[in-house]
Amino acid sequence: MKINIDFDTYLELEKIGIGAFKPLDSFMNEKDFYSVAKSMRLDNGKLFPIPILLPIPKLNPEQILNQKKIILIYEKNIVGEIYPESVFSINFKRFINMLFGTNDDKHPGYNMLHKSGNFFLGGKVKLLKQIKYKNSEFSISPKELKLFIKRNKYKTIAGFQTRNVPHKAHEFILTSALKEVDSLFIQPLIGKKKEGDFLPECVLKSYKYLIDYIFPKKQVILGTLTTSMRYSGPREAVFHAIIRKNYGCTHFLVGRDHAGVGSYYGEYDAQNLCVKFEKEIGIKIIKVRGPFYCKSCKKITNDKNCICKSSEKIEVSGTKIRNALFNNKKISERFMRKEILDLIRKEDIFIK
Ligand SMILES: [Zn+2]
Repeated sequence: MKINIDFDTYLELEKIGIGAFKPLDSFMNEKDFYSVAKSMRLDNGKLFPIPILLPIPKLNPEQILNQKKIILIYEKNIVGEIYPESVFSINFKRFINMLFGTNDDKHPGYNMLHKSGNFFLGGKVKLLKQIKYKNSEFSISPKELKLFIKRNKYKTIAGFQTRNVPHKAHEFILTSALKEVDSLFIQPLIGKKKEGDFLPECVLKSYKYLIDYIFPKKQVILGTLTTSMRYSGPREAVFHAIIRKNYGCTHFLVGRDHAGVGSYYGEYDAQNLCVKFEKEIGIKIIKVRGPFYCKSCKKITNDKNCICKSSEKIEVSGTKIRNALFNNKKISERFMRKEILDLIRKEDIFIK
C-alpha cells in the first residue's frame, strides 16, 4: 500500500529521519498525540511538546492496520515507509487551549493544524530518500553540524532560531552571545509560515551577508530548519530547544515572545518555560533581554552596558521594522544595516 504525502509532511518525515526530532522516531499515534497535548510528553514520558502528525485521506482503518508497512510517496518519489500503529481522527477544537494557550480559533498555528486534515496515521517511520527542494542547499543535518563542531574543536555552540530578517538588535544579541560561547549556529526556520512573515530568501540572504562581512570568521554557521511554524510560543520554544540539542548545541538563545504571535503569550513565558526544562533537555538557555538603541551612547546596547536615563532608550521593534518594510517606508540605519535593506528591497520580502 502507498500513501501520497504533501511537502510539509515530507519535511516532517525528513526531520524525524535525520534525528532532528529525537526522541521522536515516528509520526505520532493516538496515545502520543493525547499525551503531548495534555502534558507535553510522549506516551513514554519523554519531553516533546508539539504534535507531529501524518494526515491521510479517509481510509478504512482496518485496511491500513492490516499492513506491515506503507510506502510514503512525495511527488512520485518513494521517500519513506511507515509501520502503522494507529489510525485516528482528532477534534482539534478540544485541544486548542492545551496546544496554543488560547480559545481563539483565529490563532494562525491552530488554523494550520486544523486545516492539515481530519484523519491521521501514526507509527514508526523510516526515511528512504531525501529530495532536493527550494533552498535545500542551506539544509544541514544534526550529523553535519556535529562534525563541524568536532572539526573546529568547539566546546560550546549556541543555537539561534529565527524567522526574521536581522536588525541591529539581533546582531547585538548574536555578537554578545559569542562572548559566552565558542560558536554560533544560526538556524532560520523556513518551513510553512503565515502570510506576512518574511520569505526564506530574504532571511537567508541577509544572514549570509552578516556571516560573510560582519561576524568573526568561521565562528558562525548558517543552516536552515525546515519545519512548519506553529506560533505556539512557550511550547514551541521548548520544541526548538530540543531540536538544537539534537544538533549538538550546548546553548540556545531565547528572547522576548519566542515563537509567539500577536499578544497570545507573555513577553517572557517562552523563556521561563525553556529555563524550567533546560536540565531535562540538556541545553543551557541564554536568556536574551533588551537590547535597545540609546540616544546618548549612540548605539545599540543593553542594561549591562548603558546606565543612561530610560528616556534615552528606544526599543528596536521587529514589528515596526516589518511594518515599515511592508509600507516601503524609510528605516533608520540606527536599527537596520543599509546593506541588508538594499539586499532585500530588490524583490519580494513577505509571504503573500
Ligand atoms: Zn546609554
